[in-house]
Amino acid sequence: MASNKRVPMIAGNWKMHLNSKEAADLAAAIRKGLDPDLKHEVLLAPTFTNLHAVKAVLAGSKIFLSSQDVAWEEKGAFTGAVSPSQLIDAGCTHAIIGHSERRKIFLETDEVVNKKVKAAIKANLVPVLCIGETLEERESQRTYRVLETQLNGAFAGITAAEASKVVIAYEPVWAIGTGKTATPDQAQDAHVYVRRQMERIYGKPYAEAVRLLYGGSVKADNVDELMAQPDIDGALVGGESLKSDKFLRVIHFQAVLKGRV
Ligand code: PEP
Repeated sequence: MASNKRVPMIAGNWKMHLNSKEAADLAAAIRKGLDPDLKHEVLLAPTFTNLHAVKAVLAGSKIFLSSQDVAWEEKGAFTGAVSPSQLIDAGCTHAIIGHSERRKIFLETDEVVNKKVKAAIKANLVPVLCIGETLEERESQRTYRVLETQLNGAFAGITAAEASKVVIAYEPVWAIGTGKTATPDQAQDAHVYVRRQMERIYGKPYAEAVRLLYGGSVKADNVDELMAQPDIDGALVGGESLKSDKFLRVIHFQAVLKGRV
């Protein structure tokens, strides 16, 4: 496919790793290694307690700061939760929402995800909405149905204008942290399906503009072929984002394959 206007995004999800010094050091190494002419977006998502340390390192750079989750309420008796405005205060511009680990381990439903997406949009945080099927769902040919249900749930009651702020990450659960990457064709196929669903919900201009990231064992040595797929607009990266040299290679994927820069 010809080049498109969607700005690629590479996001690092550091999950529950690193202390504040390690996180600051990693952010500094990534900042230092970044091509100053890089045209696409880079996002780092440390744990809540490391946001301030990473914010200080990223000050004045083009790298965005993200949380890995967000509460749907603004304030009150919600022990353990962090509100959208608190995240903005901590320097975040983005919030990962609905990661499969939140869905599976912390039992987040599509309804909860929907409330979080709405709260983030209201507060002007860019939601990075994660969706994806389990291995069992894929093997029983339910991938499309699962994606459709997750998208309907996440976007319920959200207008097209609001939805235009959202970045969607397709992350097949069986590929997260397992070393099993979806093949470029599998990922492209799912992305085409997600884009079609977004066209059904919000129309063609929206569907053509929405950025779809792929996540699931993206590595320095497979990012180029994934990013060469016409409907893959970026990557959400876990394990490989914890090593500065590897993550820098992912960030500087061979965009030329896509004719994008
Ligand atoms: C993730 O955390 O969203 C992820 C895709 O992890 P990994 O790259 O380690 O599979």
